[in-house]
Amino acid sequence: MICLELTGATLRENLTLLQSHTNFVNMAELRIDLLTTDERAAIAGFPGQVEQALGRPLGRALPLICTVRRASDGGSYVASESERLRLLEEGITAGFAYVDLESDLRESPAGKAVGEHARVTGCEIIRSIYDPVGQPADAEAIVRRLSDDGREIARLTVTPRTTADLVVLLEAADRTRDVRKILIGTGPYGFPTRILSRRFGSMLTCVSAPGTEQAAPGHIGPVDLTTLYRFRDITPDTRLFGIIGSPIAHSRSPQYHNRRFAADQLNARYLPILVDDVQAFFNLADRLPFHGVSVTMPHKEAVLPFLADVDAGTTAAGSCNTFVRRMPGAAPPGWFGVNTDVPGFLAPLREALGENPGGLGVTVIGAGGAARAVVYALVQEGARVLVVNRSVDRAAGLVSDLQPLGSGGGAIASASLAPDTDLNGYRDVIVQTTSVGMHGVGDPAPWLRFDGTELVYDIVYTPPETPFIVRARSAGCRTVTGDRMFDAQADAQYRLFSRLAVS
Ligand code: NAP
Repeated sequence: MICLELTGATLRENLTLLQSHTNFVNMAELRIDLLTTDERAAIAGFPGQVEQALGRPLGRALPLICTVRRASDGGSYVASESERLRLLEEGITAGFAYVDLESDLRESPAGKAVGEHARVTGCEIIRSIYDPVGQPADAEAIVRRLSDDGREIARLTVTPRTTADLVVLLEAADRTRDVRKILIGTGPYGFPTRILSRRFGSMLTCVSAPGTEQAAPGHIGPVDLTTLYRFRDITPDTRLFGIIGSPIAHSRSPQYHNRRFAADQLNARYLPILVDDVQAFFNLADRLPFHGVSVTMPHKEAVLPFLADVDAGTTAAGSCNTFVRRMPGAAPPGWFGVNTDVPGFLAPLREALGENPGGLGVTVIGAGGAARAVVYALVQEGARVLVVNRSVDRAAGLVSDLQPLGSGGGAIASASLAPDTDLNGYRDVIVQTTSVGMHGVGDPAPWLRFDGTELVYDIVYTPPETPFIVRARSAGCRTVTGDRMFDAQADAQYRLFSRLAVS
């Protein structure tokens, strides 16, 4: 089920939130701690208002959870505990389907009385523990204790701080499939638990309407969860794919791949996974399991030791941006690494040139990881390449690494990225591969004058309109922007992933 967190300061605001999302959610949690003090006094009327607004009885149609979360649990309630218990009692009497009672309320006489009132009234108890800063080591035991042999719904909300924490949490989720529970990892490391809750038997996942993220860090919106991640159709058979990196929240890849999986009606989902430690991710990848993974900074080199085999582009680039699970029976078994930046770079170049770049003279500015894939692609196609880099030693290293790999007739040389470097003979195409120009700021070679005959290709795509591209275009050059390469390399990834997805 998808539960909308009602985080408005007034009941009216919450009603509006609910009305605009009813098609996307199955239940809602009124966060009484986020209401103003005056509004808290009026919560008894809320279930009736919801019934009236939706035009149907609440009951199972749209059950409500009554929650007054304390500041110490990551909520906002700071007034007296007796007043908090009174508010919870009021919610139980008012017809909320569920009441959220923290585990320590099992110990105090006043807390026990609230629980008893809920049981007598038929309001289901969600017994909860929130850890807004960390994660206990014994999550499985805690979930079982909270559930009280199934008499209550266990709710454990924790904050994984590393990928290894996420692995532990998902293992606990898996081992408690038999328990009625809500298990959520908040924060950026916990994001996959929000999407995959159905897979490990969590009763619900919580969502926040856009702009109301105060409910908990890492929340996802109901529309994205329903339409982008197709949450309601996730089954134990759903094939998993994803992107690993740090940071990862900005990645466009989940939008790209999930849309294509949906268009092709494939039972597959693609998740952003914040990864601080590649080894921990590979533990997770086998457990869930994952079938294909995109890799972004800073892990493109770190994944290499975990791959059973790689393509020639990966060897040349010394980095891998995609790996896929090999088909059963394939040798060697394990993960196969591919560098889709190689075909991704070439496809828009060929389109712009109307031919292969063989025989052309090309300057490549930069000698980082992406430059290696670019230079390898060009040399395989038979281009003559001059690599110019701020650190000239790095450019020379790139040349000496790539030269022995053989080529389709191309040649490589290196030089310093400096105004006095002679680019004559290498001006048919100029490729900008440094990170300068990201965020729309900076030009790696402001002294470089275009004469309008060059094809200028900047691989930076955040944003695609870099100062370098703008300058080239105004000099009359034909240009290729980095978003074209991004889309082409993502398309190459999708072709690998979709073969491993199931319909
Ligand atoms: P990287 O390995 O860190 O390499 C960075 C490169 O930028 C190095 O050559 C570095 O030179 C140079 N550089 C950094 N700051 C500079 C400055 N102030 N002046 C001159 N040169 C500077 O990064 P990468 O993985 O190759 O990625 C580079 C860019 O390509 C990023 O913007 C990335 O987003 C983009 N990219 C795009 C696609 C796509 O699909 N369109 C694919 C991959 C990468 P030094 O060696 O002297 O430090």
